[in-house]
Amino acid sequence: MELRIAGTISESVVDGPGYRFVVFTQGCRHCCPGCHNQHTWDPAGGTAVRVVDLLERIKTAKLLKGITLTGGEPFLQATPLAWLGREVKKLGLDVITYTGYTWEELMLISLNKKDIKELLLVSDYLVDGLFILAERELELPFRGSSNQRILDVSQSLQAGGPVEAYFS
Ligand code: SF4
Repeated sequence: MELRIAGTISESVVDGPGYRFVVFTQGCRHCCPGCHNQHTWDPAGGTAVRVVDLLERIKTAKLLKGITLTGGEPFLQATPLAWLGREVKKLGLDVITYTGYTWEELMLISLNKKDIKELLLVSDYLVDGLFILAERELELPFRGSSNQRILDVSQSLQAGGPVEAYFS
């Protein structure tokens, strides 16, 4: 199974708590004004990689707390990312997924799209919402604009609505 990516970082400390393996997925339709990752927009750009190869690279990193799936829009490639998420959780790692969709939008889309639901379910945390230039806040940890939320996925599913999480 393949995934198109813009790149990876093996040990990031700015994409969630702890050391994280970051996958920058290729392809995004949101076109947020002020986006810093416009090179990720073209779904045919970037590089195709096998998810098993990404998994092997993750296994070789010893200090990781988890992986971060960002982009681009990860939910455009939900099937391979859900597979990767399931595999890394078997290693005891957590999964943070960034998305330009809101929680509420993903709930609606996932009613008819199994792959979207699977990626959502394998994510421990979801950082949701478009980047809004007018709401940009440079001091916000792990987010670009104040409309974006860090959500605890399992608590949100239990509560039937978005429940915010706070990373230290
Ligand atoms: S969702 Fe992210 S990658 Fe996509 S346009 Fe918005 S800021 Fe850029």
